[in-house]
Amino acid sequence: TLDAAWARRWVAQAANAVAAAKDDLTELDRQIGDGDHGANLDRGFRAVVAKLDEAPAPDDETVGAVLKAVATTLMSTVGGAAGPLYGTAFLRASKVTGREEIDSSAVVALLEAALEGITARGHATTGEKTMVDAWHPAAEAAAAADGQPVLAVLRAAAAAADAGSTATIPLVATKGRASYLGERSAGHEDPGARSTALLLAAAVAAAE
Ligand code: ADP
Ligand code: MG
Ligand code: MG
Repeated sequence: TLDAAWARRWVAQAANAVAAAKDDLTELDRQIGDGDHGANLDRGFRAVVAKLDEAPAPDDETVGAVLKAVATTLMSTVGGAAGPLYGTAFLRASKVTGREEIDSSAVVALLEAALEGITARGHATTGEKTMVDAWHPAAEAAAAADGQPVLAVLRAAAAAADAGSTATIPLVATKGRASYLGERSAGHEDPGARSTALLLAAAVAAAE
């Protein structure tokens, strides 16, 4: 099972991964957007780490409490489209992870709640070349792996997000800033789908 210490490691790994990929994410967003996705997320995750480091973790801390801090900090620091989308994702996820330790089924619930938050907020469905194209296959793969050990469920989700992100390359964007390019958005990977894959890979690394 996974506990609040895992959630804190997830945040730290995510912050490192986003910092390392900042220029790559910015370059992806420069191709089909306004070139700020890497900077937006790097600012957000640095703020999240600072927020969590403000006070020592309480003994009875829950995964949900950590994810809620992530949500509120991302909402107030990331801006653009991705801030409210990731903020809502982590907020919904925090509401289904109030328990101290989470098992495989709770990971599935976490991912499904995050996806629901994103679609409630952004009204995108799969195939529109957004982060939904990473979150949706991730939640689906996790549900299919439910019953396996929690690390296997997380790995299945992260692999599906990675493949889903790569699969956005040929798509034409119909939501978000990239949709302004119409057909010219094809041939580029969606930055939010790629950052989603990074975040889920960080969740795996934190559980290993
Ligand atoms: P902005 O486009 O405001 O500059 P970012 O560059 O930080 O914001 O984030 C862009 C990413 O947000 C896109 O790559 C896409 O994955 C995601 N996105 C944009 N609009 C939506 C939407 N309606 N639903 C889901 N994801 C979206
Ligand atoms: Mg942008
Ligand atoms: Mg922007």
